[in-house]
Amino acid sequence: MTVLYEKERQMLIDTARTMEKMGLVKLSGGNVSMRMPCGNVLVTPSAMGYENMVPEDIVLIDMQGNTVEGFRRPTSDWKAILYILREMPEMNVVLHTHQPAAIALSLVADELPVISTTMVDEIKHTVRVAPFTISSDEGMGIATVEHAGRALAVILKHHGVIAYGRNMDQALAAVVYLEESCEVYLKALAVGRPIPVLTEEQIAAEDAPRGYYGQP
Ligand SMILES: [Zn+2]
Repeated sequence: MTVLYEKERQMLIDTARTMEKMGLVKLSGGNVSMRMPCGNVLVTPSAMGYENMVPEDIVLIDMQGNTVEGFRRPTSDWKAILYILREMPEMNVVLHTHQPAAIALSLVADELPVISTTMVDEIKHTVRVAPFTISSDEGMGIATVEHAGRALAVILKHHGVIAYGRNMDQALAAVVYLEESCEVYLKALAVGRPIPVLTEEQIAAEDAPRGYYGQP
């Protein structure tokens, strides 16, 4: 069977498997979505494990949630995902995880301040904790957009994380390094002393292009 966007469908599966391997989701938890150039959106299917997922399991939906191509039911969070993609036109990828350190942080703090160069490089700015919303509801997307600020992710209290990016690599780095940053912050919080955070000047200096990092 040939399907539209076969390569991109595989990218969604690979990303979901990476999220699972890194402990950000388990079994069928969370979801991955990507806006295509035609304006429709590829999403992972509802309640299916990632280990044996194949490109045909990924569902292509339009911005109203109608299935364009695919025979699986799309992720139950599709309303929230479409809301985010509508409100953030510059973002093309939305990732949703149930990552433990971020959920733990949501129980004891209202935000993750900028505590490291990694946070500036990969998440951009302070990550806010959005108040509880029920899952599989558009309200999750509304809370995400309201609390996005300048970061590439929002922590959903009692639930998990929604991260977004212009492309898959950017969104994946945001969830992976958000978990690492939450672990660091929780360790520091446990000591019980005031925690210094980066100033706006330090954040701007770290974020300024310097031209060497990465491969030409
Ligand atoms: Zn969830």
